[in-house]
Amino acid sequence: MTAFAPPVADFPALALPLHGRRVAFLDSAASAQKPQAVIDAMAQALAGPYANIHRGLYGWSEDLTARFEVARARVARFIGAANADEVVFTRGATEAINLVAQSWGRANLSEGDEVVLTIMEHHANIVPWQLLQAERGIVIKVVPMDDRGVLDLGAFKGCLTHRTKLVAVTHISNALGTVNPVAEIAAIAKDFYPDMRILVDGAQGVVHGVADVGTLGADWYVFSGHKLYGPTGIGVLWGRAEVLADMPPWQGGGDMIEVVDLDGTTFKPPPARFEAGTPAIAEAIGLATAMDYLDALGADAIAQHERDLLLYAAQRLGHVEGLTLHGTAPGKAGIVSFTLDGLHHADVATLLAQCGVAVRAGHHCCMPLMRRLGVPGTIRASLGLYSTREDIDQLVQGLYKAKEMLT
Ligand code: PMP
Repeated sequence: MTAFAPPVADFPALALPLHGRRVAFLDSAASAQKPQAVIDAMAQALAGPYANIHRGLYGWSEDLTARFEVARARVARFIGAANADEVVFTRGATEAINLVAQSWGRANLSEGDEVVLTIMEHHANIVPWQLLQAERGIVIKVVPMDDRGVLDLGAFKGCLTHRTKLVAVTHISNALGTVNPVAEIAAIAKDFYPDMRILVDGAQGVVHGVADVGTLGADWYVFSGHKLYGPTGIGVLWGRAEVLADMPPWQGGGDMIEVVDLDGTTFKPPPARFEAGTPAIAEAIGLATAMDYLDALGADAIAQHERDLLLYAAQRLGHVEGLTLHGTAPGKAGIVSFTLDGLHHADVATLLAQCGVAVRAGHHCCMPLMRRLGVPGTIRASLGLYSTREDIDQLVQGLYKAKEMLT
């Protein structure tokens, strides 16, 4: 196999300076850069022939409707879904989880029912369940992890009861990079009780080429377009057909109804039932184009590249005195969290920015996880398919400079 050459030139933003320096963009877990192909596809969708979809009886509307539905089928193929009707477009992962909580959760959870989360969940997979807890009196249980950031599956098994209705778990931790054994978790849960529902937060998982909903054994898989080299404002809720079919609408409006009478309304089947109002048309097309782009590069080649670079990063960062890595799970993805003895994460990130290095610093929307780690926040460098050794070298140089200036 020939070595993967990061296609940096495909991403126009990466040619721009950051604070006057060459940019080392190491914040892809927050949002990835967009390839020219995605930018072009969206511009072309907006430049026309453009019209609202699903309603018009003229060519422009019909053609764009067809492209939107082709985009849905493209998403289904990308994640290994059995059919396109299992793909609901949302604004992002956050909205998709809220959709499940408000629709399925309100219809199925009552006082004393249990929802199992993990200690490494993003706030997007905690707060929607807490809102339901306040309304319904459900019980939230949390699976702990060890010091490497590996979930304790024994504790997981131990917390399941006949009241456990849902397990909601992240596929890959956005703060630690841990790849959770979601298929095993789903199998354990379904073995305990076949009707237990499994939601997988794939916001990071889908990016690293490990999403195959056909084999995961989950009921829902959610993700955002913007972390997958696609646009903001578009995301996906995948749900098993029979599970979606049983869920009531969560928002009402145009496009999701069959017949509206002033006495009552009947609703379309999924996915339309969950897509009230005009959807993000150009964004759906942009997301499908991002998937074409990724498939052309090859998921295995991208994954191998990120693994190699992660090893290189761990090795180089390992030589920085006073640096503690948080998250050392075997087989982890290209997300590196660390702290530097005696230095505040925000000060370090600000100095790194002056060196052209874009990282994230803080709690990464995982406050309970930070409490578990015993730190207020970490510095997080996250890799993308365009990341290079030069980016890592620039990070390490920046860290030496930050240490020099701050100590
Ligand atoms: N879950 C995880 C694991 C994430 O990393 C993120 C984004 N940081 C989200 C959920 C929320 O994604 P979005 O803000 O795009 O809805």
